[in-house]
Amino acid sequence: MAPSKIYLLMAIGMALQVVHAAPSTLGNNDVCTSSQCVQTAASIIRDMNPTVDPCEDFSAYTCGGFWEREEIPADKESIGYFRIVADQNNRVIRSIVSPESDPQLEAIDDKIAAGRNLQKLKDLYASCMDEEQIAKVGRQPVVDQLKTILDLFPATTADITLDRMALSTTLAHLNRIGLDSFSSFGVSTDVKDPTRHLMDLSEGGLGLPSKEYYLDERITTVYQTTVAQMFELMQGKGLEINNGTSSTSTKVEVVVSSEWEEAAKDVVEFEKLLAGIATERTERRDPEKSYNPRTLDQIRAMTPSIDWHLIVQSILPEKNDIPDIIIVNSPGFQERLEGLLQKTSPKTIQNYLSWTVIRELAGSLNLPYRQPLRILNAALSGVSADVVPDRWKTCVAVVNSQLGDMAGQYFISDSFKGNSRTQVRDMIESLRETYLKSFPNLNWLDDATTEGAIKKMKAIVQLTGFSTNSPNVGSSKNVDDYYQDYKVDPKDYFGNQLRMNVWGTERYFNELDKPVNKKKMHMSPQTVNAYYSPTENQIVFPAGILQPPFFHTENPEYINWGGIGVVAGHEITHGFDNKGHQFDALGRLANWWSNSTTEAFNKKAQCFIDQYGNFTVKGSDGKDYNVNGQLTLGENIADNGGLKQSFDTWKARYNSDPAGRRYNNFRLPGLEGLTAEQLFFISYARPWCSKQRPESAIRQMRTDPHSPAKWRINGAVQNSVGFAEAFKCKAKAPMNPDKKCDLW
Ligand SMILES: [Zn+2]
Repeated sequence: MAPSKIYLLMAIGMALQVVHAAPSTLGNNDVCTSSQCVQTAASIIRDMNPTVDPCEDFSAYTCGGFWEREEIPADKESIGYFRIVADQNNRVIRSIVSPESDPQLEAIDDKIAAGRNLQKLKDLYASCMDEEQIAKVGRQPVVDQLKTILDLFPATTADITLDRMALSTTLAHLNRIGLDSFSSFGVSTDVKDPTRHLMDLSEGGLGLPSKEYYLDERITTVYQTTVAQMFELMQGKGLEINNGTSSTSTKVEVVVSSEWEEAAKDVVEFEKLLAGIATERTERRDPEKSYNPRTLDQIRAMTPSIDWHLIVQSILPEKNDIPDIIIVNSPGFQERLEGLLQKTSPKTIQNYLSWTVIRELAGSLNLPYRQPLRILNAALSGVSADVVPDRWKTCVAVVNSQLGDMAGQYFISDSFKGNSRTQVRDMIESLRETYLKSFPNLNWLDDATTEGAIKKMKAIVQLTGFSTNSPNVGSSKNVDDYYQDYKVDPKDYFGNQLRMNVWGTERYFNELDKPVNKKKMHMSPQTVNAYYSPTENQIVFPAGILQPPFFHTENPEYINWGGIGVVAGHEITHGFDNKGHQFDALGRLANWWSNSTTEAFNKKAQCFIDQYGNFTVKGSDGKDYNVNGQLTLGENIADNGGLKQSFDTWKARYNSDPAGRRYNNFRLPGLEGLTAEQLFFISYARPWCSKQRPESAIRQMRTDPHSPAKWRINGAVQNSVGFAEAFKCKAKAPMNPDKKCDLW
């Protein structure tokens, strides 16, 4: 059943011969020897550990070779296929934006605009790569920002009463320059009427990734040291920096004065209290609980210490009136915030606001001025603070985040082949058919709810490849227009970051009185990811994910269906998970479920909560930490539904075509010992082959709604009857428990 190492050698041998065989002429029993087939087979075999019983631990069976072979790069917190593919895409982006490069577009609608775009990309990249210039400006850009805060919010240790006006002006300023503080206004789709936008007020302002970290003394100690050192560094004291020699050194010793030691202690104590009043993450993800329409007067009543009217007025574009209604994500938090502000000294709040600016902006300074932040990051991610990633990687990330769609136009031209788009679209349509057929067979779904589910499934819209609106990535002119108000200066890295923040915030608020644009893709084309948007009832697949191990046009179907097929099924299932099912076919947060069916849904969902809540991950302290079954519920439902629906879709096609005349289900060289069904599941698991530093794993568990990679594999296959049959797992084997959770 399992391929041996000898097959691996054979596979590589054939790769050298590069035997081309057109896949379409091959039947289900023929072995494909095209270079793509050889490559696909070889990479599957390389990742496996065939000595493991797949029914004992499927992740170890599929990924054992990967685990043994791959090392986490020194500058990364994990390694896995999402990262490996993203690295490939990043190299493409680098080849576009490097000074000497001359990338070509397949089609240009406006030569002048195209030239401007390329220059803008190169300028942004160059500003980031110019470490000499960044060292030359030193700490000054952040010092200037701190001065603004102190001007807006003057306070001394003698002050007792909070200056409401000063605080509000400062919060408005932070909001405008896109920095996160304890309360920020934003713009989002109105979940009850998803054609329009509404202003919202959300909570935030924690410097550590989640509230749990404030209970971890080891972390809060590192955090306090970081705050103190950064304060001191921004005074220009505590450290002698020689621009020429020490700008790339990570050996930074900061002598902190007692004044800033005290200030740091105050800030961390304040944040501990802020964490104490923060809303639980699971509650913040609940769409009904976060939808609280309030007038400004009502918001004022919750937190009288802040002049909300002043903030709204100063961040809205002039053309806009003050909105009648603002969505408050957590009114309870705003009320508790009042209590906290009342008992906090103005000086502490000033220090906290200053720290917010440092925390959010100092990452763009030269190395010695951000080293304490990197030491904090080391404690949170496990990546050593002595390791500095290659500068180009940082700078490509900056290009992706600031001019993602502009760079994406070149990425598409370089790496995206049109036929993959057609093929993936066809797959999604087949998946939709399977779902539609499955609904009437689910005995826990009553007739009325089945009808609603069918209606919603039919209405799901798919976007594949790249955004065609706001901006249209296919048009140089449109991309140029879209980014035209964002000015890039090749000599001002810090300024570019700040201008992007302001541009982004203004763009959001300008959308407020415009209808929601359903053609916009909220990910750049080179992104290795996919998403479902409940308010748009839309599934989206950027070009970046349409490549191995997820997909290749020349792969046999069972490989593609195990890969991108499950990803597509996962995104579709999000429309029906614990959050998505609360939205109707038009993307409205509106209940279309009967009470009894809701009850049945919740009961079935509880099965997943219990199952995943029993899975554990090792922390850096060697202790086992349990996965949060509630936080990860939606993703787990999506994984399980996606796996089942994709398997059923592929299997129906496969069974309908035993000779392989219509669909490509030929065999892969070196993998003849495995059935197509078995390879489907291996193809599902492979993208989750990964290794992660324990610190990073803990952070993921506390903040990320996705389960750890190993459990995305083993959790889903434990619930799959198709898996147990494919591998002939005995009853009660670890991967074939009696109790199976299922929903879709
Ligand atoms: Zn998901």
